[in-house]
Amino acid sequence: MAKIVLEDVTKVYKGGVKAVDKFSMEIDEGEFIVFVGPSGCGKSTTLRMIAGLEEITEGNLYINGVYSNELEPKDRDLAMVFQNYALYPYLNVYDNIAFGLRLRHFSKEEIDQKVHQVAEIFGLQDLLKRKPKALSGGQRQRVALARAVVREAKAYLLDEPLSNLDAKLRTQMRVEIIKLFERLKTTFIYVTHDQVEAMTMGTRIVVMKDGLIQQIDTPVHLYDHPTNLFVASFIGTPQMNFFKGKIEHLTKKSKITLENGNQIDILKSKLARTDIEDVILGIRSEDIAISEKGMEARVRMIETLGSETLIYLSFDQDNSIINNNDFIVKVQGRVDYRVNDVVKVNFNENKLHLFDSITEESIIKL
Ligand code: ADP
Repeated sequence: MAKIVLEDVTKVYKGGVKAVDKFSMEIDEGEFIVFVGPSGCGKSTTLRMIAGLEEITEGNLYINGVYSNELEPKDRDLAMVFQNYALYPYLNVYDNIAFGLRLRHFSKEEIDQKVHQVAEIFGLQDLLKRKPKALSGGQRQRVALARAVVREAKAYLLDEPLSNLDAKLRTQMRVEIIKLFERLKTTFIYVTHDQVEAMTMGTRIVVMKDGLIQQIDTPVHLYDHPTNLFVASFIGTPQMNFFKGKIEHLTKKSKITLENGNQIDILKSKLARTDIEDVILGIRSEDIAISEKGMEARVRMIETLGSETLIYLSFDQDNSIINNNDFIVKVQGRVDYRVNDVVKVNFNENKLHLFDSITEESIIKL
């Protein structure tokens, strides 16, 4: 198992692109860390610097306490699975899995035992004699994973390993990887742009944007306490609802006035800062209730998803195009509202998020 420490790790590519900027974190043995963020935010570059496939421009990397910036990839003892897992087309599944072990001069008996062991974990026992072209996408991906884990590395680095699979297979493989982690209990670092993957797999998640770490946290804490507007909007589906507003402070409460004139109270003691006037209020779709009393909103659209329903509402009374007054409410079960019905909504005061409209940092106490 590996403890991996990154200190101000920075990557500047030739031509001057700063892909990763002062990335610092300690990854403990046996953690499942997910790097998540939009395309181009520096996730793969960070992973590749850990693997030794990309030079570190500045900063320090330690693997189990050993300074490793200049260590050859093969001496780092880390196994990597890529999005484009190239299997050897002329080798069957058995030989594909055994390939790395042969390079490392394991005995024939050891190889046989290890290959059968991982084949069992990944349900590949009946496919060992097949060539890759006779496998489905999911099966091929399982072979790629089997090939990576067969060699008991200190840590497993996975770069978007599921992104070539269809939605159903992705979900299946997600569960397989979680089971694999439970079984190996070793360090995993997993790169994805998919926040659902991040939320379901990670013991901790690193949210990145433009080469910079935005927040490192457990999935639940990230969801409940995003430190800035970007994290708040990136994590969670549907996206958190946002409204521009102005805040004023009374003795115990603070009053937020939205652009449409609606007012919402929040306990002043919840605020980390009271020196800001322009704020962005955020609230998740499940934290808004439709009730007898409350702020009036008009139904724009209804999405029935089966066990839950998304109601698209607007504080606007006219048919103006989507704007700052639109939001989504998620309710369990079905509803029988129609488009243009007027309903009343309440925001759960304990679940409000507030951001400085200029810096976009949260102003709620953690
Ligand atoms: P992600 O994995 O989050 O999609 P990457 O780490 O691949 O992001 O890329 C981060 C940034 O570095 C992007 O702006 C990308 O264009 C740039 N980049 C990646 N690889 C190279 C390279 N080999 N040469 C120059 N720029 C690169």
